[in-house]
Amino acid sequence: MITTITKIHTDGQAANATLNNYSDKVEKVELAAGNKQEKPLPSYDKYPFLIWEFETPIIWSNVIFITLWHLIAVYYFIHYPSILSKLPLVLYGCVIGGISGFGITGGAHRYFTHRTYKAKLPLKILLLISYAVAGQNQLFDWVRDHRVHHKFSESNADPHNASRGFFFSHVGWLMMKKHPDVIRKGRTIDMSDITDDPLIQVYQKYWFWIKLAFCFIIPSAIPVYLYGEDWFWSIITICFIRYVISLNSTWAVNSFAHIWGYRPYDKRIFPSENLAVSFFAMGEGYHNYHHTFPWDYRAAELGTMLNVTTLWLNIFKSIGWAYDLKAPSGELIRKVVENNGDGTHYRWGHEVAEECEGAAGDEEVKEEEEEVEEKKEM
Ligand SMILES: [Zn+2]
Ligand SMILES: [Zn+2]
Repeated sequence: MITTITKIHTDGQAANATLNNYSDKVEKVELAAGNKQEKPLPSYDKYPFLIWEFETPIIWSNVIFITLWHLIAVYYFIHYPSILSKLPLVLYGCVIGGISGFGITGGAHRYFTHRTYKAKLPLKILLLISYAVAGQNQLFDWVRDHRVHHKFSESNADPHNASRGFFFSHVGWLMMKKHPDVIRKGRTIDMSDITDDPLIQVYQKYWFWIKLAFCFIIPSAIPVYLYGEDWFWSIITICFIRYVISLNSTWAVNSFAHIWGYRPYDKRIFPSENLAVSFFAMGEGYHNYHHTFPWDYRAAELGTMLNVTTLWLNIFKSIGWAYDLKAPSGELIRKVVENNGDGTHYRWGHEVAEECEGAAGDEEVKEEEEEVEEKKEM
């Protein structure tokens, strides 16, 4: 069963809003938050452009930058020299993609945002470097946005609110000013672990240069100096094709995995289990599980086949660099699946389905569970 959720925003009237009155509105909302008054939000004007209306102003520099970057990447992806003649560069690009992916999944996401495990200094430095290779937003912004996303999923306070459609949740949200609710709720998020960390403060201070060096310059220069690769193709491969694939892999978690897939752990929420996303996002596509158990270092219930991040974290655990890795018990997962799942869980799903049909009372379900457990032990 593939579930599709789309909600088209049709409300609103055209308005002559400007960037200035947007700022005023944000300020008012923040003042209200500062007073700790639970007032209803003011109604927002719309920002018209051609035939469309937007809830917040468009950031045109981001639109142009993101569009151009994608156009160049797609053009040269189509006109790439034969794979065999560029095999070392292609393989090298995959390695850089893997490092940047781990910086996002194992670093910004599972470590810095959710604190699903503890890391010793060498691993922490490795995570920060890998995150720089990914070349996304400032770490502080990434962590705050993601914490707000979990706390206020699919509401106006969710930075990439999937109920505003696929495009908005995928990349559109990066092309617009944040909704005032995102700013207001974002200020309520505890970020002291990030702001009080001296290493992260230095990292943030020099972020522009660190990102420039680790995302673009160093990765592009290595093949040139290592084996005489052509500068042009090295830059195209690393700075455009690899970068665009990496970005879209991360964005896919917010779009595809919030719209399409099964919901075996909690049918009441948007996030879904999406295997294709898991492949590209190194194990982050088990998103229904992740939103149900965000503190699990595996971000998935099962295995490491499509969950390369968990595989690496297990390796770092074995050498002692990662420790106190958190994960729920099987019993807790089972209870949650039975209470809230959509009946598609590989093991307990059918029991949920039967319960929904009223085929089995509590006693019978208990007996069945015991039977399953006994069989498992045998
Ligand atoms: Zn999510
Ligand atoms: Zn998360």
